[in-house]
Amino acid sequence: MVCLCPFIMTSLRNYDKICLFCRNEFKAQKRTTKYCNHSCASRAYKVNKRNEVLIEVNFEEFVKNQLNIHTEALNQIQFTISQLIQTNRIIKAEFIPVEDYCNLKGISRKTLSRWIKENKVEVKQLSTRKFLIKS
Ligand SMILES: [Zn+2]
Repeated sequence: MVCLCPFIMTSLRNYDKICLFCRNEFKAQKRTTKYCNHSCASRAYKVNKRNEVLIEVNFEEFVKNQLNIHTEALNQIQFTISQLIQTNRIIKAEFIPVEDYCNLKGISRKTLSRWIKENKVEVKQLSTRKFLIKS
């Protein structure tokens, strides 16, 4: 006599699956089974773990790079600000050092000494070698 019990029928039912690791066909008892055997499952687990580590390492590098870029940008901003402050200070000052004056006007010392001779600029003498120019 043939057993027609539906429970036995279901429990013996197999699912046709393809192993996600070795790509071979196999019969699985559960719909959710992904791998044909334990060895494929553990090898797949190792590969996945390694990929996870790679992603983490790449993410860490990405964050480091971003930090470097931001630090670089901050340094640039700080440099620009300090230059602006310096320029502002020079503009506000009544008399400034010869070098600052030349930089500000974009002229050479030779041109400045010509201007001084021609009385084009106002000079304040601090000592025998130190002069200030009216900005
Ligand atoms: Zn397999």
